[in-house]
Formats: sequence, structure tokens, C-alpha cells
Amino acid sequence: VAAHLNSSGFIRSQGLIGGKWTDAYDGKTIKVCNPATGEVITNVPCMGGKETNDAIASAYDAFVSWSKLTAADRSKCLRKWYDLILAHKEELGQLMTLEQGKPLKEAIGEVSYGASFIEFYAEEAKRVYGDIIPATLPDRRLFVLKQPVGVVGAITPWNFPLAMITRKVAPALACGCTVVIKPSELTPLTALAAADLSIQAGIPPGVLNVVMGNAVDIGDALLASQQVRKITFTGSTAVGKKLMAGAAATVKKVSLELGGNAPCIIFDDADLEVALKGTLATKFRNSGQTCVCANRVLVQEGIYEKFANALSSAVQSMKVGDGFGEGVVQGPLINDAAVQKVESLVQDAISKGAKVLVGGKRHGLGLTFYEPTVMADVKGEMLISREEVFGPVAPIQKFKTEEEAIRLANDTNAGLAAYIFTTNVQRSWRVTEALEYGMVGVNEGLVSTEVAPFGGVKQSGLGREGSKYGMDEFLEAKGLVQLPS
Ligand code: ADP
Repeated sequence: VAAHLNSSGFIRSQGLIGGKWTDAYDGKTIKVCNPATGEVITNVPCMGGKETNDAIASAYDAFVSWSKLTAADRSKCLRKWYDLILAHKEELGQLMTLEQGKPLKEAIGEVSYGASFIEFYAEEAKRVYGDIIPATLPDRRLFVLKQPVGVVGAITPWNFPLAMITRKVAPALACGCTVVIKPSELTPLTALAAADLSIQAGIPPGVLNVVMGNAVDIGDALLASQQVRKITFTGSTAVGKKLMAGAAATVKKVSLELGGNAPCIIFDDADLEVALKGTLATKFRNSGQTCVCANRVLVQEGIYEKFANALSSAVQSMKVGDGFGEGVVQGPLINDAAVQKVESLVQDAISKGAKVLVGGKRHGLGLTFYEPTVMADVKGEMLISREEVFGPVAPIQKFKTEEEAIRLANDTNAGLAAYIFTTNVQRSWRVTEALEYGMVGVNEGLVSTEVAPFGGVKQSGLGREGSKYGMDEFLEAKGLVQLPS
């Protein structure tokens, strides 16, 4: 697969600055590896502050003309980019499986999902409406103009190598902003391939730049720049806090999508099949490596036994392996540090009385494969209930009453996604309103779509991505008071 992608030009091994494919100025590189085999796919430049400053300068130049295009013209470019991404769905999916490990079907699914943000924002570009406000003095007129914020620094993680980029870049470009992207060094190839297609789509040089390498140096250059007016980030809470603090020096706008600790609450009155399907979807997507993955499965005592058995037998039959393998639904974890974290959380839970129903250890395939796991008798004070697992482990905790479930669910600093399973409509509204979360799935394990706002409360983040609300993050409202005559 790698050889085929390479010969068809899909593996790009340079950054993109001002429309030019660029090496690191000192020639340094970093390896990009396939987590399913450990093999090196290619080397990409290890860039730092200098390259980032040049990318910012290119983005700043490009902003002048890009922001002055009509919305319809920007929309056409985005639409063309969307068409090209879909036309190369297979290749982009293969590239993603190669560098990230997720099963090919899931990877191709992410290409469609990632592309959907470009289509949606190509349409939204044309709907950046201002306001006319009734004035406070009879001879005055009051207006609100919406204008692009300026150059955007976008820092993205490895778990969704395409979608985390398009979800930021598409609304930014639609609004008239230009972007410097820093993808994760673990998965830069999908980002580079998408950037290449953006050029083919006619998005002008400098509008979209990609740098990668030394994350701290690149991040610091983005933060220090007066020309960068906005930082949009998806990643860990710890790094998000650093970026927020760093952005204070130049008072940039900030959007953050940080870690979650999603409760998945199964009430006695849930439809067992629906709850099982939803829990599997939210827990085991991308081998548990998403910030909206169920982190705690809270099950009411009346359905506990039945649900734990049903979940165990479903998880037992999951096929683990290389994402290119036939019927594989669980790929490897991204790296050894990820496996070590899962191991330590599982060990801590076992030492405090939790029981392993299925899995519970590294997979026989070696490398970073981990067995899909179900644990019972989990308690709120165990580390596995307090930290983001980011792996294929479903920890089940028993509760008695609705009040207890809400208290347990909210007993965390995170507040990204929550899930509830119930057939009682009043309860679904009552619990949804009581949950301190940015998103709630009711009888549904997948909450993410381009048309709905995605984002967290508490320490899970700031701002929203997707939907009409995602545009606001890249716009400033300018007040205009006019004396017409
Ligand atoms: P994860 O644990 O999911 O990898 P991180 O927050 O470490 O989450 O990484 C998310 C993104 O943030 C990656 O692109 C990473 O390189 C980048 N990153 C990590 N540390 C910093 C930093 N100090 N400044 C800027 N970006 C950073």
C-alpha cells in the first residue's frame, strides 16, 4: 500500500509554506511510522520557529487577498477541495490507516466525515450575515459587520488526522482567514495529502500552510506572533492550558477541544440492544482513542448483570489486527506510551477491586495492540474513572438511582460528551439538562456531525466546532455607528 501511495504522489514528505513544498531549514527530519507494523513510512521535516515564522508571513500576505474575495469565490474553492477529497477517499483512507492504525473502513469513514466540514462551510461562507440594530438616537444608524479574525494557528492531534484539520480549516477559510496548520508529528501525512489537494482545488498559495516538527518551538512561534490572531487547538488538557496561557501575551482568540471523561449511563428502562449498540459505538471507535469515547459506563443495578454479559460477549468477538486486515474492527494503539497508560489504569483498577470480564492485557499480536476489555465493579475513586483512558477498555460501574448517576457523571473536571440510554422521555430531558457536558447523546453513541456544535464545558474546552456556531470562532463583530447625512 505504501509503495502504491508513494508512486501515485499521495505520500508527501515536505511541509507547505506559501505554496512551496519545503524541507526543514537545517535539513532535520523525523520518522513517520506505521503503528501496526512498526515500519517507517517516510521522513518529514523537523521544523521549528524559523519555518513557522515564514509560514505566518505567507499566511499574513495571503490574508489580504483571500479575505477580499467574495464569499462565493471562497465557497467555490472549498467546494472543489471537498470534491477532490471525496474523489480520493480510498487513497486518503489508506494513508490514514497506514500512519494512524484505524481500520480501513473507519479511515474511509473519517475521510467522508472530514470532508463534510468542507462542504458545510463552503455553504456557510455565503451566510456570514451582519446586523442592523435599532439606534438609540433618532438620527443615528447602527450596524454590525462580521469580519475574519486574521491569521489562524491550528494545532491538531493524531486520532483524527483529517477531520480535526478540516473542522478548523474549513470554517476559517470560509470566513476569509488564512491558516498555519501544525498536525501531529505522528500523523502528518494525511494532513499533507489534504493540503496538496487544496492547492489542486485552486486555494491560493499561503492561504493554507503546514509546518511540523518541534511542537514546542512551533507552538511558541505561533503564540508569540502579533500577526496570528487566533489559536484553535484539539489535544490534551495540559497542552490546551499552556496554549491558553501563552495566547494571553498577545490577547489572541482561543478555541480549545480538550480531554473528556464521558459517562455512558444505562438506566434500567433502557432498550438493551440500543444501549449495547450505542456503548460499543462510543467506546470502541478508533480503539477507544477519541475524546468523546465513553470513559465510564455507569449501569443501573436492575440491568447491570444483563448489560455486562451482553457487552462482554460482543467485545469478546471483536477482531483485532492491522487496519488493512479483513474484518478487523480494532487496530493498534498509537504508540507504546498509550499502551502503558492503559496498562497502568487497568492495574490500578484491579488492585482496588475491579474485575476483568474480557481482555485486560496486551494483545498476543505484540507491538501496541491491546485486547478489547470489559471491567466490572469499577468505582469512582479508581484512576480509570478519573483519567481519560484513550484505549479499548470499558469500565462498568453500578449505580442505584437517577440522582446518584447524575452526581457520578458530573463528578469530574471534564465536560465534553455524555451518553444516556433510557426509554423514558421525561427522564431523558431531566438528565440531559442536569449533565454538565457540552454534548449529550440520548440512545445514541455517535454525537459528532458537521451540522451540530461540538465542544466542551468546564476543563474540556472553549468554543464550538461544526455547525453555524463554528463560524463565530473565526469572526469578529465590528460595530458601526453612522450619522447618515
Ligand atoms: P495527545 O496526547 O493527544 O497527543 P497533545 O496535546 O500532546 O495530545 O498533542 C496535540 C497536539 O499538540 C499535537 O500536534 C502536538 O504536537 C501539539 N503539542 C504538544 N505540545 C505542544 C506545545 N507545548 N505547544 C504547541 N503544541 C503542542
